[in-house]
Parts: sequence; C-alpha cells; structure tokens
Amino acid sequence: MIVSYEIKSLRVVLKIYLIKQVNSSESVHSSFECFVESTMLEMDLRLLLPSLVPSSQSVYVLVFYFVYLAVAGEILPGKVIRGVVLSDGSQHRYRCNGLFALSLLVAILGISAKLGVLSPLVVADRGLELLSATFIFCVLVTLVLYITGRTSSDKSSSLKPHVSGNLLHDWWFGIQLNPQFIGIDLKFFFVRAGMMGWLLINLSILAKSFQDGSLSQSMILYQIFCALYILDYFVHEEYMTSTWDIIAERLGFMLVFGDLLWIPFTFSIQGWWLLHNKVELTVPAIVANFFVFLIGYMVFRGANKQKHIFKKSPKTPIWGKPPVVVGGKLLASGYWGIARHCNYLGDLMLALSFSLPCGISSPVSYFYPIYLLILLIWRERRDEERCAEKYKEIWAEYLRLVPYRILPYVY
Ligand code: NDP
Repeated sequence: MIVSYEIKSLRVVLKIYLIKQVNSSESVHSSFECFVESTMLEMDLRLLLPSLVPSSQSVYVLVFYFVYLAVAGEILPGKVIRGVVLSDGSQHRYRCNGLFALSLLVAILGISAKLGVLSPLVVADRGLELLSATFIFCVLVTLVLYITGRTSSDKSSSLKPHVSGNLLHDWWFGIQLNPQFIGIDLKFFFVRAGMMGWLLINLSILAKSFQDGSLSQSMILYQIFCALYILDYFVHEEYMTSTWDIIAERLGFMLVFGDLLWIPFTFSIQGWWLLHNKVELTVPAIVANFFVFLIGYMVFRGANKQKHIFKKSPKTPIWGKPPVVVGGKLLASGYWGIARHCNYLGDLMLALSFSLPCGISSPVSYFYPIYLLILLIWRERRDEERCAEKYKEIWAEYLRLVPYRILPYVY
C-alpha cells in the first residue's frame, strides 16, 4: 500500500515535469491532455498526503534506531579522539566506534530478517512515513534545543548561548555549539545517525529490488558506490571531528534537519528512482562511472587526510616532500596547493558517480550532485570569510599562492 504511494509520489514529480513539457509544446499536446494530466496530479496528491502521516510502527523504528545508536555509541569500544581546541581551551572527546556500531546493527537487522522477525522492506515500504516522523522529530528536538540554549547560563565555548534575539534565526542556526543529552554529544550523534540511515535506506531499497525482480546493473553500481562511501566515512570517522560542522556550526534546525532527514532521504533518491526505472548501461559507461568514482574518492579522501594529518603533525611530508606551509598554519602543498577546497571537488565527483548509474534521462536522479554543488559553493564562500577573519594576512598570502577555490583553472 505504502509502496504504491511512493510510486505515486514519484509520478507526481514526473507529471509536474511532463505538464511543463506539455505546456511548452502546444503543437504536440492538446489542452485536453493537459487537463487529464493535472486531474491525475490532483488525485495523486490526495493519495500522497495520507502516506505522510506517521504510523506507530514508523515511530517505533525511529525510537529503536536512536536508542540503539545511543547505547552502541556509549558501550562499544572505539578510538577516543580529542576534538579541536575550542576558544576557551577546552577539547571534546569523541568515541569513534561508528564502524563497529554500523556493522553490528546491519548484522542484527540481517539476522532478524533471516529469522522472519523483521522485514528487510520495513524502510522501503514506509519511506514517506519515516520521512515525516523524522521531520516532526527534528522540529521537536530543535525547539527543545532552542529553549535549553536560551536558558543556559553556561560560559564555556561549547554551551555558551549565542542569541541574536530573532527567534527564527536562533532556532534555524542554533544557539549552542556542542549541546549534549545524557552525556552524548548531539552533533556527532546526529551526523552519525544520518550517514547510517542513508545506508539502511539503501539496503532496504536493494532488498525491495530483489523482491520485485527489478535488480539491475545500475542499482548494483549505485549501491556499491554509496556503500563504499559510507563505510569509508566510518573508517575515517575521526576526520569528522575537525570539519566545519563540528568546529564552527551551532546545533539548530539547519544542522539537525540536514543530518537526520536530508542526508538519508535525499541522498537515496537515485535508489528510489532505480526501483521504478530501468536503465541500460554500456560497458564503456560502467568503466567511465568507476573512474569518476575512483578519482573522486582519491581526491576527496586524499585532501581531507592531508589536512587532518597536517593539523596533528605539521611536519609530515606531503607526497614525499616537506609540506609548504603559510605562516606556520596553512598547508599550501599537496591537494591544498592545487585548489583551496580540493576536498569539495572530490566530493562532487563522488556525488556525480552516484547518479551516473541512472543514465541521463531524468534530472530527478541528479538531485544530489546539483544540491551538493550549490551547497559546497555556498559553504566554501562562508568558510573563506571565516578563514580570512581568523588568519588575516596569512590567508591573503595563501590566496596568492593558491588562486583557485575548487576546480583549478575554472573556479
Ligand atoms: P573542510 O574540511 O575543508 O574544513 C575547512 C576548514 O579547514 C577551515 O575552516 C580551516 O579551519 C581549515 N583549513 C582551510 N584551508 C586550510 C589549509 N590550507 N590548511 C590548513 N587548514 C585549512 O570543510 P568542511 O568541513 O566543509 O568539509 C569536510 C568534508 O565534508 C569535505 O570533503 C566536504 O566535501 C564534505 N561535506 C560533505 C557534505 C555532503 O552533504 N555530502 C556537506 C558538507 C561537507 P581551521 O580554522 O581549523 O584552520
């Protein structure tokens, strides 16, 4: 039942696209066809809305998921990493046991599915419900964060309230840098939940495609690339502790929504799309797709790794040579000497590689790379502003040495 709603929701998107096409080529389509299309659209929307109401099962799924992550994050062994030094000299500690927690969760779910205790389709069949339940959770949790942030009298960098006085602004961008709940760092927790959620949605989509006999080369490629990316994220989870989100962004609706809803539900659009669309890929297209993935991965991981190692031990050689350092603080060799945000370039290539298995017939499956392009250009601008303010003349020197932002000779 729910699946048919999912299919219909996809049809809604396709029909909006169709209607636009119809309107722009009157010679081919009559106004009657437009009328039929719009009436169907209306009917589909009427069917779509009830599927957005969360059932008790979708709430149980979410509760189980969050409880599991909270418990696993606390008790499973993992490397404990010190975060960056905050302005008051304090440092957070992060237990990087995400890979263990994820593997155990997938094993538990796999065994439960084998024993018939749980359907592997539970997520694929309840996608929209889970999405709306997650949205409601994001709103509720950020209202609580807003209230606790506003009433906090803590003076530490992590919990000091940053209040602009504009309710919407403060709720959206957050008030505190690192709020906690029963000792759990919420920012680290939510990003972990989002990344794992993405893999779980994909696995459920994969199970669905097995079940309905629609498993294709495209689906396998998409699943392999995303699974490698997500597993790699957890192998290198400690690198997350020095990213912009963790060190600079406060925890408000923007970040909570981005982590819990945006990452898992929109990054998996290609998977949902492939459930309902068949794509024939040629061998050269598959090989090219692998190259985009591999080069993207090399640049993305290489750049992030170089910066991370540089921050920990600034004298470590880069590509076999002593690093070029500006003002003792900024790395200007390796990937960081090619462009000031080569890591974004790698990420964009990876995003593209997740969509290429869908072919080029629909813009829907390119949602993720297009969104990421916009996000990373915006983020890069904000990051540069922050760095210019923080590093002053050192930053100006770095700009002179490395003139390109993301793509050498282009941007
Ligand atoms: P970065 O990891 O690039 O971190 C930026 C920070 O690094 C700067 O604020 C500065 O911090 C430091 N820095 C910048 N240049 C240099 C340099 N030359 N030498 C030394 N330090 C430098 O950015 P993000 O945290 O935004 O991104 C991390 C990864 O996450 C990226 O690969 C990105 O693609 C990915 N990402 C993915 C998203 C997605 O939706 N898929 C969304 C956002 C990010 P400091 O003050 O500490 O020096």
